[in-house]
Amino acid sequence: MTTINIIYGTAILEMTYKLLRETAAGNITETVKRLRSDMKVVIKPNLVVAKPANEGATTHPEIVEGIVRFLKDFGVTKPVIAEGSWLGEQTGKAFSCCGYDVLAKRYGLQLVDTKKENTVKKNACGLTLGICNIFLEADFLINVPVLKGHCQTVMTCCLKNLKGCIPDSEKRRYHNIGLHKPVAALNTILKPDLHVIDGICGDPVFEEGGNPVTANRILLGTDPVLLDSYGAALLGYTADEIEYIHYAKEYGAGNLFNTDTKINEFQTENRPKNTVQNQSRLVRELAPLIEDRNACSACYAALIFALHKLGVNNSGRKITETFKIGQGFRGKQSTGIGIGDCAKGCEQHISGCPPSAAAIVRALKNVTAGFLNS
Ligand code: SF4
Repeated sequence: MTTINIIYGTAILEMTYKLLRETAAGNITETVKRLRSDMKVVIKPNLVVAKPANEGATTHPEIVEGIVRFLKDFGVTKPVIAEGSWLGEQTGKAFSCCGYDVLAKRYGLQLVDTKKENTVKKNACGLTLGICNIFLEADFLINVPVLKGHCQTVMTCCLKNLKGCIPDSEKRRYHNIGLHKPVAALNTILKPDLHVIDGICGDPVFEEGGNPVTANRILLGTDPVLLDSYGAALLGYTADEIEYIHYAKEYGAGNLFNTDTKINEFQTENRPKNTVQNQSRLVRELAPLIEDRNACSACYAALIFALHKLGVNNSGRKITETFKIGQGFRGKQSTGIGIGDCAKGCEQHISGCPPSAAAIVRALKNVTAGFLNS
């Protein structure tokens, strides 16, 4: 399908249901025709951290509720909601904080923490990838990502949201083998039937939110490459700037957004005036101060937050040493300040796996004196 469906507004649950109903009778007909009441339907939101959706990191539960109501029309009454938060976060805490406990209770649904799930190894694109079994066993998989920024991959949406379908050990390993290729390869194994994108108020800079930008839109489609390349444009990037989109296209996971793509819009009277956001200036400004060798997202983001909090920037205060971070520093001696357990061979070191931003702030207040000149 070369159609992207978008609805605008603030009544999130009703918008989601309407978008699904309208398109079920149109360009997603063939997909929803396959729904059967005895199917194992799995919904995969983005609950990367335990923060409510209005902070711009996590999927609004109202969107998932809209999907649940839609599925009920097809006799599917017990879809499973499955997710594994990022390293260092408890998924159970995220389920509770983000309103999924309440949702599950209301509809009698099962919440699955994929950190506790069995995994199966699969080969794809020259890589062997461990994937949580529940997603491989799903008869119908619905991906519900947030369109938002990401410190390392620039943005995250449909393709990268599937990183929540792998165990923590694999999350670490993905960063160690370059992140983009394994994310793209994962999308050749797991192929969600539908992608419903939360574009309500994603943070255009940080995966973990904190700077939500209201856009009041929900997007729907079946091709993750198409949707992500369109999402990149909404955030002010071209698909070429997002490496994993490039690889996903190369691996056959979908097609790029182009002039032939049909955009099917609903409730356009609610469309925001300016849909292009590009607020990653902070990350771009701080990146030259960081020597990143395959750092996990949680680690890298914590450092960015900490530097921002401390008022460190690339133009004002001069830095005499870069911060060292990532699995590439494991077992290595280095000058400078190492962030996280991997970089404990550095001259000075802040422990944690990952360290919290608050811990980095506390530690940097003491250790930066020799490295930063006001
Ligand atoms: S210290 Fe940081 S980069 Fe190293 S494994 Fe832990 S979270 Fe990942």
